[in-house]
Amino acid sequence: MNGYPVRMSEGRYHRQALVPSIGDAGQERIGNSSVLVVGCGALGCMSVDLLARAGVGHLRLVDRDVVELTNLQRQSLFDEDDVASRRPKAIAARNRLEAVNSSIRIEAVVDDVDASNIEHLADGCDLIMDGLDNFEARYLLNDLSIATDRPWIYGGAVGTTGMTAVIVPGRTPCLRCLFPEPPAAGTTPTCDTAGVLGPVVSMVAARQALQALKILAGQDEALDPALLSFDAWSNTTREMKPGTPSPECPCCGQRDFEWLEGRRGQGASILCGRNAVQVKPDDGSTLLPLEELARRLSTHGTFRCNDSVVHGTLDHEVNEDGERIELTIFQNGRALVKGSGSTEHARAVYAKYIGT
Ligand SMILES: [Zn+2]
Repeated sequence: MNGYPVRMSEGRYHRQALVPSIGDAGQERIGNSSVLVVGCGALGCMSVDLLARAGVGHLRLVDRDVVELTNLQRQSLFDEDDVASRRPKAIAARNRLEAVNSSIRIEAVVDDVDASNIEHLADGCDLIMDGLDNFEARYLLNDLSIATDRPWIYGGAVGTTGMTAVIVPGRTPCLRCLFPEPPAAGTTPTCDTAGVLGPVVSMVAARQALQALKILAGQDEALDPALLSFDAWSNTTREMKPGTPSPECPCCGQRDFEWLEGRRGQGASILCGRNAVQVKPDDGSTLLPLEELARRLSTHGTFRCNDSVVHGTLDHEVNEDGERIELTIFQNGRALVKGSGSTEHARAVYAKYIGT
């Protein structure tokens, strides 16, 4: 075009395949692989961006939330139009990644991951990336990983601290070997209470994506099995060299899958960073006619709908501080109730306006 011929031999992945650890064979393996990304918040955005550009052939993105203004500081796949449109994160992420790499298959699933759907969501996936914001769901993911013999890559970032680990069933300790029980609700800092820095998220997500590429390229021996934690502000790093899976571990030792079998971690849950409670219908298999629901709710407040959600504020439903309650309802009946003081109140609001 400007007199410089495009050298076709240098395809999209040329610079990556040039790295001897990857090579053409590794690149082909990466292209034939399939990854489930659970959660498209800050970590999910950054790690899946790297995987899409690296040419992972199939990505399935799952997220339960919509894009908000406070996400843009660190959630690198979203923009102001996504905020204005109240676009579900999974869909916004897919739209962006399709523009980045149209040669791979990208699926978006707008849903909450729980015991009833995780096996189906992971179907056909070689690896699971953790982009979650809560521990309960990570224990579910860990159960699935061990039960179905699939590796997953744990990542967490809050404030100026980050943590990552690779969990390979039968080879490394699992999450429950390291932390037998999830921390009690409200005992750990969240992005909501402690904030989080974008570069810290990048550091964690980059390490997650790197470990993923090692696995997908068939280079398991290059994995760093250490549980790494760091504080990027005080410049401290801790590496916990893992041993082997513990025979006493309830999950990988005893194979008791409490989360996967739905005996733990159910019900309404408070969303990190949202001052919102999620309420799920007992039967989430029926799809709601969103326009009709928006019309019905319009008699109780100001409601609008787009292709994926109904959103609005109730006129006569306020919390203790007199603020009006905000509802976001997804097509499968799942709702985010913002501003309610408790899960009980959120459930009551749901029952009254949406139905049970
Ligand atoms: Zn274990």
